[in-house]
Amino acid sequence: MGHASKATNDQTIIINTCAVTNEAVRSARRSIRLARRDNPDARIVATGCAVQIDPNSFADMDELDFVLGNAEKMQRKSWAFDAETPRVRVNDIASITENAGHLIDAFSTRARTYVEVQNGCDHRCTFCIIPYGRGNARSVPAGEVVRQIAHLAEQAVSEVVLSGVDLTSWGDDLPGRPRLGRLVKQILHGAPNLPRLRLSSIDAIEMDDELFELVTTEPRIAPHLHLSLQAGDNMILKRMKRRHSREDAIALCGRLHEARPEIALGADLIAGFPTESDAMFENTLALVEECNLAYLHVFPFSPRTGTPAARMPQLDRKIITARAAHLRQLGQNQLAAHLQNHVGKTADVLMEKSGQGRLADFSQVQVKDAKNTRPGAIISVQLQTHDGTRLSGELAQ
Ligand code: SF4
Repeated sequence: MGHASKATNDQTIIINTCAVTNEAVRSARRSIRLARRDNPDARIVATGCAVQIDPNSFADMDELDFVLGNAEKMQRKSWAFDAETPRVRVNDIASITENAGHLIDAFSTRARTYVEVQNGCDHRCTFCIIPYGRGNARSVPAGEVVRQIAHLAEQAVSEVVLSGVDLTSWGDDLPGRPRLGRLVKQILHGAPNLPRLRLSSIDAIEMDDELFELVTTEPRIAPHLHLSLQAGDNMILKRMKRRHSREDAIALCGRLHEARPEIALGADLIAGFPTESDAMFENTLALVEECNLAYLHVFPFSPRTGTPAARMPQLDRKIITARAAHLRQLGQNQLAAHLQNHVGKTADVLMEKSGQGRLADFSQVQVKDAKNTRPGAIISVQLQTHDGTRLSGELAQ
């Protein structure tokens, strides 16, 4: 309580911490120390996943006035501070099951708006700390989601991205256990003016038939999926406690490409998971080509304290770094090949900022004569070339 006396009511600094790696937690602590050093009189509040997972270590930081859990930060009353306010308020996130509409959240860049329809995760992948920070899976009821997106479409938002920690588990906790495909259908119906709907990262094994049908046939759904694949070797997938096999991943990607050839697939992949041999890593490299992935998010494995994978036999750091570099290089080749397929074609570009935008499949585009085009506008562009990272072109006549 003593720390609250340092604060003034004029300025509150909120530090929303991330826990995904040990380095993220270290960096959150650094930010808190710097914030205090530069703002000796401000009220400083820490919240977020690192606080949720390890509240005591944050409570021990003299630099902080208040420490708030992830559920508490969502409650308006938590932000009214007075002399009686307890310094630390962090409850057990696993006890939070409500799926009330207030969970729904949206944030916008000027081109696209992210709508969070799901939070938390019921899985326990052995490398991942997220469920301990976010709690169990909770979904926003369809009615709330459709209302919010219909409202955004009326405000002329060009693109909505559905997001969630484990998006494809949406509906599991709702009456009748609807699947994500049903929600997407309701959104398309309830927001007929919305030009583009995109899905954020999805779990390949959780894709329901209705969702597959919509993603492959509905032109308003962006032809772009980011899959949480993580590895291409069955033994490593098992040790990660993932629920799909390499064969499942290859079959799904093949079906998607066959049903909608223009679809661009991306994936998260971890390089150097504990016990990964050269042959196992080769399987991950081969998966990238067998799934014909256009975008890779490569993570060099980094043991997260408190997870089972941190207690498994670790690989040498140099091997992890070299494998990550190898995968990234492969990712660059895949992206260049994907961009090359667009050269010579005309396509719609959703503008983001000063002459830059993206195709529906998320490829970046630089448009020569569109510096003053409003972010959010969709324009037709003649695609002329690419530099391996993005396409460039000019306004189509
Ligand atoms: S499904 Fe995703 S969020 Fe859930 S434990 Fe696995 S990696 Fe973490």
